[in-house]
Amino acid sequence: MSIVLHGIGLGGGIAIGNAYLLDKNLNDAVYRILDIEDVDAEILRFESALVQTKRELERLRDNIPSNAPKELGAFLSLSLIMLEDPQIAISPLKIIGDDKCNAEWAIKLQANKLSAQFDNIRDDYLKERKHDVIQILERVFENLEGNKFKWDEAGDLECGILATHDLSPVDLIHFKNSNFSGFITEVGSLTSHTAIVGRNLDIPAVIKVAYARQLIGDNELIIIDGIEGVLIINPDPIVLNEYKRRQEEWLNSKDRLYTIRQKEAITEDGVSVELLANIDNLNDLVDAKYNNASGVGLFRSEFLFLTHDDHIVNEDEQFEMYSTMLNEMGTLPITIRMADFGVDKIAKRDIGSEILNPALGLTGVRLLLATPSMLKTQLRAILRASVYGNIEVMFPMISSSIELQQVINQMHYVKEELKEEGIAYNPEIKIGAMIEVPAAAFAIKGILAIVDFVSIGTNDLIQYMLAVDRNDEVVNYLYNPTHPAILKIILHVIRQCNRVSVPVSICGEMAGDERLTRLLLGMGLRRFSMRSANILNIKQIILNTNLSQVTSTVNKILKTENFERIEELMLKLNSAK
Ligand code: PEP
Ligand code: MG
Repeated sequence: MSIVLHGIGLGGGIAIGNAYLLDKNLNDAVYRILDIEDVDAEILRFESALVQTKRELERLRDNIPSNAPKELGAFLSLSLIMLEDPQIAISPLKIIGDDKCNAEWAIKLQANKLSAQFDNIRDDYLKERKHDVIQILERVFENLEGNKFKWDEAGDLECGILATHDLSPVDLIHFKNSNFSGFITEVGSLTSHTAIVGRNLDIPAVIKVAYARQLIGDNELIIIDGIEGVLIINPDPIVLNEYKRRQEEWLNSKDRLYTIRQKEAITEDGVSVELLANIDNLNDLVDAKYNNASGVGLFRSEFLFLTHDDHIVNEDEQFEMYSTMLNEMGTLPITIRMADFGVDKIAKRDIGSEILNPALGLTGVRLLLATPSMLKTQLRAILRASVYGNIEVMFPMISSSIELQQVINQMHYVKEELKEEGIAYNPEIKIGAMIEVPAAAFAIKGILAIVDFVSIGTNDLIQYMLAVDRNDEVVNYLYNPTHPAILKIILHVIRQCNRVSVPVSICGEMAGDERLTRLLLGMGLRRFSMRSANILNIKQIILNTNLSQVTSTVNKILKTENFERIEELMLKLNSAK
């Protein structure tokens, strides 16, 4: 039987292939009855998973990155103690022996039992520990031979479509090196970092397809349409042929777009626009160059650290990376956004515990200022590389000019230090601020007085303006880039920057959204930074736009607070020839 499911498409076209089901978790455990002679081997299997989990936790505890939250060390030590608790280390063994069942099932039974016990506890604090205990059991479950997905071996897998519960942004970086032709997740929201990195991959992907893995059989033929956000399980021949046709059409349209690659991005009435690339790692430069980006407007440098979880990336390694990038891009600018760690960028398993209100906590520039050694190391590496090309530094999550001045002061110290050591750097290196906290947008004059450029991080700006967690799928319907308040704040920032001739770009997802291109042009934006795969689409729109003709509709949109009217006017704006 054929089944059609809907989710959120991350673009990348259409993939047709066999499903590879990943991420077995406790709920997926199936019961297997054991022959009496196999019980000892199963016990050994459980014990070696226990040992492996212990080693993993010890390794994590002994190599805590300096930028990691303070609680991590304590949490890992506590996890190690819990791992030795008889309820975790012994009870499953007893279940395996008594019930003659597989280790997965024994862990699941034990997790259910402990879960029920915790639910009956009155003390709220203790009740909350349920999650920690279950996580430990999940870790052991994952470490049972055959349950853990090894990304480093994924490159050898035959091409297929990955179906999983969730993927962290770091998993997605590994995904790039695998042979999978697309992926589906059961959860996710459009502006989470997983979705952003997923879109950067430019391969067919659909997220938030609830219960997908329960409906797809391992190795079953599926179609994913990343444009429409559709998953089709076991398609009938007519549907299959139709999707093969659409897949070809999609590839042809990409080829057609390629012909405008060398063209300047200029509107019909001669307004020139800069189209820059957002990148997460060195490999993304291939796409940036393929799409003829006029530089890198946002390098999310935190991924450099997140993909090397076996050690902390030191100054020389960073320097190598930045210099290689500069070498790749010739004279084109590369804007390095200083490491912007937020909890969603770190896999939950690496932190191990929930952090209160992470989006309002120690993140972005706050974390940089709180970990001076990390800040200094990155600044040194960037400054050392700055003599090899056109590098710019940008600070994330700025909320006031004071914070910005503090990091700029740090930069002065680092420059002095390099001078004393006789190490060359570019003294004129450009410094920019991300405007993603509403307070920074409204107190922008002080910021503009001390920066060379500004970039509006609309992904966060929208979440903070509208009080909508960008990662929370439940409130995602409220996450609206054309909310009148969002348009007003963006307009304000663009106008203030243009008034004093400080270059301003948008590097959030809005910049790569075709529906918003004319609107943003009409608001005065001339620099757009987006995932590379979108550059040619956006360029096509710019080439087909006569700015003077769309301005009156843009002005009407900016004046109204009526949502339906905005929608109507947006349609009008985008359909104008
Ligand atoms: C943003 O917030 O818009 C942005 C570009 O940064 P990130 O998505 O990495 O938070
Ligand atoms: Mg941001």
